[in-house]
Amino acid sequence: MAAASRHYCDHNATTELRPVAKAALIAALDATGNASSVHTEGQRQRGRIEDARRLVARLLGRGPADVTFTSGATEALNTLAQPTEAHRHLFLGATEHAALRDGHRFGDAVTILPVDNEGRVTTASLDEAFAALPDAQRNAVLVAVQAANNETGVIQPLDALAAIVKARGASLLVDAVQAAGRLPLAPLMALADALVLSSHKVGGPAGAGAIVYGTQDARFLPLIRGGGQERRRRAGTENAAAIAGFAAALEQAAAEQPAEAARLNTLRETFENAVRAIPGAMIVGQNAERLPNTTCVLLRGIAAEKALIAFDIAGFALSSGSACSSGKVTASHVLTAMGFDTASARSALRISFGWSSTEATCEALCAAFPRIAQNLSPEKVHAA
Ligand code: PLP
Repeated sequence: MAAASRHYCDHNATTELRPVAKAALIAALDATGNASSVHTEGQRQRGRIEDARRLVARLLGRGPADVTFTSGATEALNTLAQPTEAHRHLFLGATEHAALRDGHRFGDAVTILPVDNEGRVTTASLDEAFAALPDAQRNAVLVAVQAANNETGVIQPLDALAAIVKARGASLLVDAVQAAGRLPLAPLMALADALVLSSHKVGGPAGAGAIVYGTQDARFLPLIRGGGQERRRRAGTENAAAIAGFAAALEQAAAEQPAEAARLNTLRETFENAVRAIPGAMIVGQNAERLPNTTCVLLRGIAAEKALIAFDIAGFALSSGSACSSGKVTASHVLTAMGFDTASARSALRISFGWSSTEATCEALCAAFPRIAQNLSPEKVHAA
């Protein structure tokens, strides 16, 4: 029998729509007009988009001309990860999102940057990757390293990595999708030649995202060509409503970030203390700096898909933290890159709190998690 009350703990997959975003979205949806039209209706939509652009730019410490709106982070990352005159080779962190791993167009001109056991790209691995390239190619490199991982929450040492990228004259692409609202964004932007954000991860609607360029924007090419929208960086009629909702959500997420990081950290610590009491359970990346909202737990010997169903029936929306198609969880490339064997990598559960998570949700999860995990344990199942 399904549980009466639901507890949503999958905010890294998508988070609930913020009321401010909903209001901005509805106001723009109620209006008509194409932002490229000269008439009053069109110019009102243009105004909404340009207000949103100024807002996003201000939050990132850049100018409005540096912001390109896209349909989401996947499109933004696909756009940036194309070979150009300036970028002939791609260095890719081993734990990057599929939008980059499978979405880049560099063919074989790719070097995967290995991560340590805690999931961090090391400066040594970046130095080695540069050293392995012929001298003439070293400044024609695009280095893509995420700010924080969606499965484990592990934060990358971007200050140190960016210093190496800069010294080599290469470019740095930062996927800040999971960092937004959880870490300060302007310091990340200061390191990046291009930074990527997604609306639905910060409490805006799906269907919008942004590329924010640093000083080297001429090094990148558009992906979608046609009309002259977005300063010829991204053709196609803008999704004014989603863009307005996105900017409103990001503004609130950024304003609340310091207090929210502390609040989420308390929820996560409370939950992780409950997990630590479960025999055999392991928290992934626990010795690294992590996002305040994310926990990846290995329940050894328990297939993630079974656990997900048991938690769902009990009223908890969790994630396997790995690729899940047709209900079958495959080993997470993030965990295998961190050195976990396939069986362990298939037993990972991700719990991610967000702006609408409450203490009550955390308490319910702390009470249910050990009980459900122990009921699923191989010993228990075999004894039954
Ligand atoms: N990058 C990271 C780290 C993500 O977690 C996600 C979504 O899960 C994406 C990129 C893709 O974002 P979008 O859903 O906006 O395409």
